[in-house]
Amino acid sequence: MRDENGVPFEMVTVMRDVTRRKAMETELANARVAADAAASAKSDFLANMSHELRTPLTGVIGFSNLLSELPGLPSEAQMFVDRISTGSQALLSVINDILEFSKLDAGHLKLELQPFALSEFVRSTAELVSIQARAKGLALEVVCTPEAPEWVQGDAARLRQILLNLLNNAVKFTAEGQVTLRLAYGASGAAGQMRIEVEDTGPGIAPEMQARLFQRFSQVDGSISRNFGGTGLGLSICKGLVELMGGTIGLVSLQGVGSVFWFEAPAPVAQAPNGPIELAPVVEGRQARILVVDDVAVNRELVRILLTPFGHVVDEAPGGAEAVEACLRSVYDLIFMDVHTPGVDGLAATRSIRAGCLPNASTPIIALTALAGEDRLAACFDAGMDDYTPKPFSLVELLTKVAEWTAAREGNDPTQVLSTAVE
Ligand code: ADP
Repeated sequence: MRDENGVPFEMVTVMRDVTRRKAMETELANARVAADAAASAKSDFLANMSHELRTPLTGVIGFSNLLSELPGLPSEAQMFVDRISTGSQALLSVINDILEFSKLDAGHLKLELQPFALSEFVRSTAELVSIQARAKGLALEVVCTPEAPEWVQGDAARLRQILLNLLNNAVKFTAEGQVTLRLAYGASGAAGQMRIEVEDTGPGIAPEMQARLFQRFSQVDGSISRNFGGTGLGLSICKGLVELMGGTIGLVSLQGVGSVFWFEAPAPVAQAPNGPIELAPVVEGRQARILVVDDVAVNRELVRILLTPFGHVVDEAPGGAEAVEACLRSVYDLIFMDVHTPGVDGLAATRSIRAGCLPNASTPIIALTALAGEDRLAACFDAGMDDYTPKPFSLVELLTKVAEWTAAREGNDPTQVLSTAVE
């Protein structure tokens, strides 16, 4: 304060206690850290759970397939084993749905864009449900607009997943009549945009239920999962995927008449890929000496039982340390390596084999893993693995890997490698 001559004579100070504000700020920051930690714990938990569930399922599915192919099985036993097979496949698809949903939720899913033949894609996807449709006496019609370009750019595998879900639902819920699949292109004025519709003559869906359908775990009524199976996750995964592609999904439905589920997604015109389209690799190959590393005995046994009839010789190791030991003793053409083994894990064992087990330093190592996720696979490749096979695996998948990787090393005489190493 100044007097009339402008000379300061007094000072006024205001002090404000900000303890509470500071405390609230710290609390907020801590809450955010805790929420991030909880979200990442949740996705780790889901990934680990799905690993724990898929590992025993590998044995259940693999052995029930082997059992059902045994000659002379009594018909009652055949029926039981078919039930085990169907049940375990259903369980696997639920686990896959949950994992997929959590990956979408956490933003961990990435699209793989490649050119694909659009009309051919639509027709071949419809083919996949034609047997179910025929069995129910439903007509299945596919109408593709001639405006659609032959090749477009997109993630065909994810698009197939979405379309299959809609088609499966249409066939599942429709008792009689027909399912129509329509492909339109650039229809709503948006160039480079495709629109796919799946129309059925099923029960239709009440207006108040329609908005909820794309939310997770929602089914029109509780009896659905009892009568038709399903988790109510399919459509929310479809919505997540379509939105990730920058598209939209929706439905028009009238109770007692039927439903049309549709989605639109960008599908810009693409050049036909150069060269012949790769066909599935041939399963034949030369006989190989294989090491399988897994702490679960049933899984090792499954690989051995599946591969020995094809002339392959399979050795087993229950953990990383034993794998390294085996690799010092024998020469292998291929190693299937479980990633999570107690003690020395698959990654550490791979590093040791690459660095110190000369006879096998360049043997292809394929991760056997139930844990999906790019960072986890990246860890496998960083450790020196060459490829991976997701669990549960099928006979064809195993044989294909063996054929691919042994063919790649064809001409390498393993005894030659061993004698050089010993010298
Ligand atoms: P799921 O089929 O695994 O239960 P979805 O998310 O695919 O899960 O579907 C959720 C629910 O939407 C279904 O349980 C069913 O009630 C309803 N629904 C989906 N498609 C149709 C259809 N074409 N006709 C009638 N109801 C449907």
